[in-house]
Amino acid sequence: MKKLCVLLSLFVLVCSIVTPVWARTFVNIGTGGVTGVYYPTGGAISRMLNKKSKVYGIKVTVDSTSGSVYNINAILSGEMDFGIAQSDRQYQAYKGLAEWSQRGPQSDLRSVFAIHPESITLIAAQQSRVASVVDLKGKRVNVGNPGSGQLQNSKDVLATFGLDLASIHGDQVKAVEAPGLLQDEKIDAFFYTVGHPNGNIKEATSGRIKVRIVPIKGPKIDILLKKYPYYASSRIPVEFYPNAVNSEDIESIGVKATLVVSQKLDDAIVYALTKEVFDNLEAFKKLHPAYAVLTKENMLQGLTAPIHRGALKYYQEADLLHYIKPDLIADPLQ
Ligand code: GLU
Repeated sequence: MKKLCVLLSLFVLVCSIVTPVWARTFVNIGTGGVTGVYYPTGGAISRMLNKKSKVYGIKVTVDSTSGSVYNINAILSGEMDFGIAQSDRQYQAYKGLAEWSQRGPQSDLRSVFAIHPESITLIAAQQSRVASVVDLKGKRVNVGNPGSGQLQNSKDVLATFGLDLASIHGDQVKAVEAPGLLQDEKIDAFFYTVGHPNGNIKEATSGRIKVRIVPIKGPKIDILLKKYPYYASSRIPVEFYPNAVNSEDIESIGVKATLVVSQKLDDAIVYALTKEVFDNLEAFKKLHPAYAVLTKENMLQGLTAPIHRGALKYYQEADLLHYIKPDLIADPLQ
C-alpha cells in the first residue's frame, strides 16, 4: 500500500512538472506586411510573452496579413487571437461604420492597448511633380489593398481635396509591393498609413528614382481633423529617410496602432500578454524606434472598443485604471 502511495505521489509530481508543456496554448497575432511596423510589433510582443512561456503555458506566433481590416475581421471570426489595427478602424468596426456599415456594430471587439503612432504617408516620384495631394489628379496611385487600414485613409484624404478613386488611376496592391512599383515607374505615388521609421519607406526612398514624401496639410486638412475624432496631426522626421528629396520634417495626419481581440478570448491569455508588455515597457520600447514615445498613459488613449477583461484585470492591479476613459470599462471585473 505504502509503495502504491509513493508511486502515486511520484506520478502526480511528474504530471505537475510536465503539465505546462502539455497544456501549452498557441495564440497568434495578425499584423501587416513584412516591411511595415505591425509585423515587427507582433514579433516584439511575442518575444516578451514567449520568454515566459513556461510560466503561462502560452506560445505566441506572428502572422503577416493584409492589415487592420483583415485583422479585425479575423479576430471576430475566431480565425486569429490578437490583431493589430489602426485606431480609426477600431472606432469604425465597433460603431459599424465604413467597411462594417453593412454588418453593423462589431460589439464583440475589445481593445487591449494602443501602440505606436502612425502617419498617413504619401510617397511620390519626384519626376511626377506631386507637391500636394491635389496634384494626384490623373496620376497612377496605389491607395492600398482591401483589408488594409490605409485604403479608407487614402479615400478620406483624396475626398478632402475634391478627388476620388475615379479622378486618379488607382491601384489597390499591398504596401509591400508599392516601393518596387514606384521605382519601376509603374506608379507615380502611393499611400501607406504606417509608423516611422519603417523598411517600406526606406526602400521606396533608396532607389534610382528620386522620391518625395508629400505633406498632407493645409486648411482643408484642418477641417478634416475637426470632422473625424480619430485623426490627429503628425510629423514624419526627415532624418529617418535621408535619401528622400525632402529637406525638412513632413507634416501629415495620423492615427495609432492598437492591439485588439474578441471579447471571447480567454482572460488569462490577455492578462498575461498585457502584464508582460507593461511590466517590461522599457525593454519593449527598445525593440523598435517607433515605440520611443510610448508611455503607460498614452498606451491607454485612442481606444474605442471596451478594454478586454483580462487586460482590465492587469490595469486594476497595476493601478492604471485612472488613465482609462470610464466608458471603456464596460465588462465588469470579477
Ligand atoms: N496601418 C497599416 C494597416 O492597417 C499597416 C501598417 C504596418 O504594417 O505597419 O493596414
